[in-house]
Amino acid sequence: MALIVQKFGGTSVADADRIRSVARRVVATREAGNDVVVCVSAMAGETDKLVGLARELGGDQPTPREYDVLVSTGEQVTIALLTMAIRQLGQRASSFTGAQMGMRTDASHMRARIESIDTEGLRAELDAGGVAVIAGFQGIDEAGNITTLGRGGSDTSAVAVACALKADVCEIYSDVDGVYTADPRWVPSARKLEKISYEEMLEMASLGAKVLQIRSVKFAMRYGLPLHVRSSFDDSEGTWVTREEEVMERLVVSGVTYNLDESKIRVRGVKDQPGIAASVFTPLSAAGIVVDVIIQNLSSDGSTDLTFTVPKADYARALEISSETGARVGAEGVEGDEDIAKVSIVGLGMRDHAGVATKMFNVLADERINIQLINTSEIKISVVIERKYAELAVRALHAAFVPAGAAEPREE
Ligand code: ASP
Ligand code: MG
Repeated sequence: MALIVQKFGGTSVADADRIRSVARRVVATREAGNDVVVCVSAMAGETDKLVGLARELGGDQPTPREYDVLVSTGEQVTIALLTMAIRQLGQRASSFTGAQMGMRTDASHMRARIESIDTEGLRAELDAGGVAVIAGFQGIDEAGNITTLGRGGSDTSAVAVACALKADVCEIYSDVDGVYTADPRWVPSARKLEKISYEEMLEMASLGAKVLQIRSVKFAMRYGLPLHVRSSFDDSEGTWVTREEEVMERLVVSGVTYNLDESKIRVRGVKDQPGIAASVFTPLSAAGIVVDVIIQNLSSDGSTDLTFTVPKADYARALEISSETGARVGAEGVEGDEDIAKVSIVGLGMRDHAGVATKMFNVLADERINIQLINTSEIKISVVIERKYAELAVRALHAAFVPAGAAEPREE
């Protein structure tokens, strides 16, 4: 008998029929002798609708406290409906809002961080033979205000509860049936991975793969909780996200990802002297803008260029801030470019394989794709290229690094 946390995303609870089928899966898991905690998102599209209404009536920046009171309601609907559907099948179940399960967070509305979870109520429900159905995405702060964890936050709620309960596994159900070596819409030969390490999943999530919220992977990694990413529409095995030692097939490259949500800013002709980078980036971070890839050219004549990427959503503001800074520090000019893509390869095997970067650059050169920026870490290499080559680059890299069906096994 295991303790299983099952998380269902918005598409899995999109209407009454789907909620009924989630209920059947939950009851089957319970009847197989497991303790089950279920965490649900709002019905598909519901949170977007609420966010839209908040903007309509609350302006561009609605009062954060009220925003959270509003957008957290989506999940309250689904916990009640799913609990009813489970009870209709003759299984005991009770719903829990964030407050009811003591999901305590800090007070930063719209992107709150979890501080503690009081598992007593959930345990009591399980001990009584019931299923605990919990609302994802929401919590309460010390003063009792409702908070939310940021878009996609239900993944993090589910994983955090699973860690607190020392669950055996957290199953993440959605319309995606696993983690693929590349986006199957772009690369038809992409294949589903059986297992992937936390580190790789973390890189992939940060680099644009939208299967899991990044914070949920960090949580799982910290506690060594296995995640199983799988489809809510069938019973097939999905992808296990687990400790590195348990991933047998250690690929040099286990995923090729892309991100079209970034843009590039170049601060041209600034003095090459101490303090310049600090003056460029301090006002950006003060504005809460996260800068990703950064390069600074070597200077030949005492002046240099700083180029970096920022999320597209922050582009206009970042360009404005950088232009002000540029003028202040005597830059020759500040230019922006939204027409870019970041393409990355990720794999644990990169650690002990030389020449992966060279191979990547050659593959892109063969396709006549110009590389604008490069960023590497121990297990990933990212390049920024012109947007129109993104699909071609992903296909070519996948073909070069992940041969169809039989990916390169790592040499020991
Ligand atoms: N309903 C929230 C959202 O759409 C949280 C989640 O689904 O994870 O962002
Ligand atoms: Mg989600």
